[in-house]
Amino acid sequence: MPNTVLFDNGTHKNVLIEDFGLGGLAIQANQHVIVHGRSGMILDPGGHKVYSKVLSETFSILCEASLEIIFLSHQDPDIVAALNGWLMTTDAEAYVSKLWMRFVPHFGFDHLVKDRLNPIPDEGMFFNLDGALLAAIPAHFLHSEGNFQLYDPVSKILYSGDLGASIGMEYTEVTDFDAHIVHMKGFHQRYMASNSVMKAWANMVRGLDIDIIAPQHGAYFKGKGMVNRFIDWCADLECGVDLICPLFKLPVA
Ligand code: FE
Repeated sequence: MPNTVLFDNGTHKNVLIEDFGLGGLAIQANQHVIVHGRSGMILDPGGHKVYSKVLSETFSILCEASLEIIFLSHQDPDIVAALNGWLMTTDAEAYVSKLWMRFVPHFGFDHLVKDRLNPIPDEGMFFNLDGALLAAIPAHFLHSEGNFQLYDPVSKILYSGDLGASIGMEYTEVTDFDAHIVHMKGFHQRYMASNSVMKAWANMVRGLDIDIIAPQHGAYFKGKGMVNRFIDWCADLECGVDLICPLFKLPVA
């Protein structure tokens, strides 16, 4: 499928890169590129299998702009595995939770680029993209212990990482929330840490003006109605440690 432009006002552009699906072996993953003026940013660029395609696609979206920031929502392989390549081929600075600073280099780092991985503090931070301020906001334990989402106040898109991930459908935009739940529920019940942290997140993001919630896997939620339905669904979902205790039995041979 072609790239999807989620927002474009002439100076600010948000593009969802074409899905380079891997035939079902690796989980489908979305890559997002944000361009503001002369500066560009990629979110969760992915692993080695998609690296060359996502890299060339990113450069064509950037046109004259330069890639300055690589935002890593957390430490998983579908997000950071090809980071060394991205740092070797661009001058961008990469950012990941301070919890993962010493783990990400296990994917392999050239000494030339090792100083361009930067920590995000637990409270989050702002990125200045040629004058536009984008916020890394805390989303810890959703699912990773050191986990951030990115809020873009220009496009009003919340990039939610693994929260909102959906699997096993063909569409890229959710149009029927109730029918979509089946594609999210199992993943969220197992990967998200608990209802208390889901509620804390819901209370935080209700303070944001959001037009689109765009997860790293599967379809996005567009429009206030759909966005609010998703936030409400999260706030009510039992998951993670709420459900896992009965599984703690020694396996029987
Ligand atoms: Fe993950």
